Amino acid sequence: MLLTLTTTRVPATDLGFVLRKHPGRLQEFALSFGKAHVFYPEAGPERCTAALLVEVDPVGLVRQRGRPPGEGGALEQYVNDRPYAASSFLSVAIAEVFRSALGGQCGERPELATTPFPLVARLAALPSRGGEHWLRRMFEPLGYQVTATRLPLDEHFPEWGESAYFQVELAAEVTVAQLLNHLYVLVPVLDGDKHYWVGDDEVAKLVRHGEGWLATHPEREVIARRYLKHRGSLVADALAQLADESGADPESAAEVQAGEEAAVERPLRLHERRHETVLNALRATPAGRVLDLGCGEGRLLQALLKEKQFTEIVGVDVSHRALEIAAGRLHYDRLPPAERARLQLLHGSLMYRDERLEGFAAAAVVEVIEHLDPPRLAAFERVVFGCARPGTVVVTTPNREYNVKWETLPAGRFRHRDHRFEWTRAEFEAWAERVAAEHGYQVRFEPVGPVDAALGAPTQMGLFTR
Ligand code: SAH
Repeated sequence: MLLTLTTTRVPATDLGFVLRKHPGRLQEFALSFGKAHVFYPEAGPERCTAALLVEVDPVGLVRQRGRPPGEGGALEQYVNDRPYAASSFLSVAIAEVFRSALGGQCGERPELATTPFPLVARLAALPSRGGEHWLRRMFEPLGYQVTATRLPLDEHFPEWGESAYFQVELAAEVTVAQLLNHLYVLVPVLDGDKHYWVGDDEVAKLVRHGEGWLATHPEREVIARRYLKHRGSLVADALAQLADESGADPESAAEVQAGEEAAVERPLRLHERRHETVLNALRATPAGRVLDLGCGEGRLLQALLKEKQFTEIVGVDVSHRALEIAAGRLHYDRLPPAERARLQLLHGSLMYRDERLEGFAAAAVVEVIEHLDPPRLAAFERVVFGCARPGTVVVTTPNREYNVKWETLPAGRFRHRDHRFEWTRAEFEAWAERVAAEHGYQVRFEPVGPVDAALGAPTQMGLFTR
């Protein structure tokens, strides 16, 4: 199996320093299951490519390990795709051969380890039994441009059809360590086949190699399940550790992502327009006590505070970090006592019933639902419309139809990496009508932002009243 890494960052041969493999030498490494070779098909100042060629010795493997229980017949032990297809063997080879680069270290030139390079990784044959769609779902949320070519089963016999293997190119501006860690985890996940061994230390490995990206990956649950071969208790353990990780420094990634979202939407001042529109909608009600559910960094709270109509304003968010930022923005500690008495910031999740949210006249839920996993929307509906039951609920969410208007937004991508979905107007309206009917509300819709005759407005708003 073959993996190549190419950079065009001048001087491109710096790649040799990061990988700690000299571009002028051909090197060979013994592995427990075969051999790895590292060489550079090209190494110029403008462009440099390092290749990792891994040879798996299936005969040696069978002799060494004996026949694994429950596996195919004798022939399958010797004749299989393991020598050719990228799999957990590639991850093991990366860990052995590029240990320091994988760990983000670069002895002589430490600054190179943390420098993002324009990088292209090519995998000659990556299995993805779930098809190209799965490949994209794994790598695109991490910012890769994915090019995948499905390989035929046998090029001499096209009538045999397609295989489950892809020649894959992944391009992004990332550090070498990030790229290697993404491959280390995701290649075996895509392969999903005979993973070497799954024990407790695999959880530690997953958490270590997933640091900084897996906790916020939209497919983290699938990744953990597949990486750990569906061993329930290990998966639960890994997910808990990942959740802790995202709790320890919860939104460093989310903040960057929020920045990206803002960058797409900034020319339209969409953030401000949304809050203005929601504020107007709330002002038009007799509401005095209002909730801002998923208040984030507190911009809407700031606007609400300026309106004397609102006598009690409660911001709720699941992210501690966002609440801290909100408290800073609102100068919570320095507010005059009468003002401070009007405002509360609560840490809580909209997934669970919370009595503190009951008895309010109105609630804003601005750009929050698209961050919830679709299977968990039902919990949100129960908590907000069934239990908290404010007299008015104002919900906003992106209108996916409008995305084609943004030249900078790659087709098929959401506005924000953490979005679990973005709905068309028809989808949002169908959802809202159903929720309203089930919980005794009426709903009407308003566009937010400039309206395109065919596509609608960039943001859609539902006004629920009871
Ligand atoms: N309403 C804000 C923030 C939108 S971003 C604004 O308009 O700027 C989405 C916010 O929802 C984030 O702050 C996120 O932490 C919060 N969130 C996501 N899931 C949540 C949940 N289950 N419970 C409460 N808040 C949640």
